[in-house]
Amino acid sequence: MGYIRSARNEFGPCIFCDKSHLGKDEENLVVHRGENAYILMNLYPYNNGHLMVSPYDHEEHFDALNTDTQVEMMTLTTKAMEVLRSSLNADGFNFGANFGEVAGAGIKEHMHLHIVPRWIGDTNFMPVMGHTKVMVDGLKETRKQLAEAFSKNGK
Ligand SMILES: [Zn+2]
Repeated sequence: MGYIRSARNEFGPCIFCDKSHLGKDEENLVVHRGENAYILMNLYPYNNGHLMVSPYDHEEHFDALNTDTQVEMMTLTTKAMEVLRSSLNADGFNFGANFGEVAGAGIKEHMHLHIVPRWIGDTNFMPVMGHTKVMVDGLKETRKQLAEAFSKNGK
């Protein structure tokens, strides 16, 4: 019930609340769901396989979340790295979050963690991504691959 409650938050439309609705995971690029948080792909990725871990609760700051949610977000992050390593052969990761506008948060109202897979020699790859609409098809392909990997990986 947590995510249903938080989906109707008092702050107006929020993509992280919207995407936490059940039933549209493919369209919303959701790859995995936990009890208190879920994993989705970034529509404007820094790199192929750029994932975000977001709580169902609409909170701006990590410390506003209950401990169960905080712990689960870290567990999901670990799982995300495992999946990116096994499915996409990631060589490394950038992992982090921006809290508040001053820190560069794109959507500050609903906190989320970023996991960006990195490959040796990928630095020239990034500017290519993010522009073209063709990307969405690519994202859906990757989404399918990752969602399958998460389901094999267990809960
Ligand atoms: Zn929200």
